[in-house]
Amino acid sequence: TFYAFYDNVMNHEMLREKELENTMDAALANHEFEVYYQPKFDLKTQKPIAAEALVRWKHPKLGFVSPAAFIPVCEKNGIISRLDQLVFEEVCRTLAEWKESRIPLLPISVNISRQQLKTPSFFNDYRKIAEEAGVARGLIEFELTESLMLVGNDFKNAREVIEEIHSAGFTCSLDDFGSGYSSLGLLKDLKIDCLKLDRMFFANRFETPETRAIIDAKKLNIATVAEGVEYKEQVELLRTIGCDLIQGFYFFRPVPVREFERIVLEEAGKPPTTD
Ligand code: C2E
Ligand code: MG
Ligand code: MG
Repeated sequence: TFYAFYDNVMNHEMLREKELENTMDAALANHEFEVYYQPKFDLKTQKPIAAEALVRWKHPKLGFVSPAAFIPVCEKNGIISRLDQLVFEEVCRTLAEWKESRIPLLPISVNISRQQLKTPSFFNDYRKIAEEAGVARGLIEFELTESLMLVGNDFKNAREVIEEIHSAGFTCSLDDFGSGYSSLGLLKDLKIDCLKLDRMFFANRFETPETRAIIDAKKLNIATVAEGVEYKEQVELLRTIGCDLIQGFYFFRPVPVREFERIVLEEAGKPPTTD
């Protein structure tokens, strides 16, 4: 029956979750996590000018496991802080390497989880890691999701977090905007540097009332990044409304660090486009 089927699916999911959980510690020790970089493409200069660091898990038995599957497990069992710190350390190491080579230094954003924000030593730890790597903190952006900022409608707390990020020298973006609570009024209260519009915004490829967020953000001097852009029509629309950056498969997928370096070097060598 349907129920039996459903139960099986549930059991399968739970088994999988348990299996993931059981192998996570070993995975950290065995360096099974790798940082990929997805370029953010500037519509004005027609070049990638920044990137987001996205974690990948290459599981020896299960193969590639999507972060959408394992991040929620990490959040439940508390491993997320370690994982995020590992990603951050790797990003700092990479930025330090670029500084020593001829690879242009581009700002990189990292995702921050609720647990880290709750860790009292978080800002100091991250500041120290960047310092020890010799990386300018202005090159690092923290991506915070709407839901993370708005828990219990505590705007004051969100404001304090952003202030702390800024006083530690990092920049800050609001991730997945439009996927949940979306309030444009919020933008005025929160001094974020960048607004990342969720891909659901552009799912239909046509202008929606939400695309106004881009226009409003511009008025507040907040940079805008459109996520998950896959079609030419979306790019055209976003260009018309004045969106600054595009992070989507249409231009680039997330790639391993060496591949990202190759992209950046190649783009740096191209003459600027007149447009
Ligand atoms: P996110 O931070 O919103 O990252 C953007 C996601 O959209 C990435 O999924 C990226 O691969 C995907 N994406 C980009 N362009 C396109 C497109 O054109 N089409 C489609 N369909 N998807 C696109 P990914 O890498 O699977 O990560 C999923 C989520 O997992 C991230 O969403 C983020 O919330 C979380 N995540 C990933 N890495 C980390 C990490 O190191 N730490 C934490 N705490 N969370 C992470
Ligand atoms: Mg993100
Ligand atoms: Mg996002």
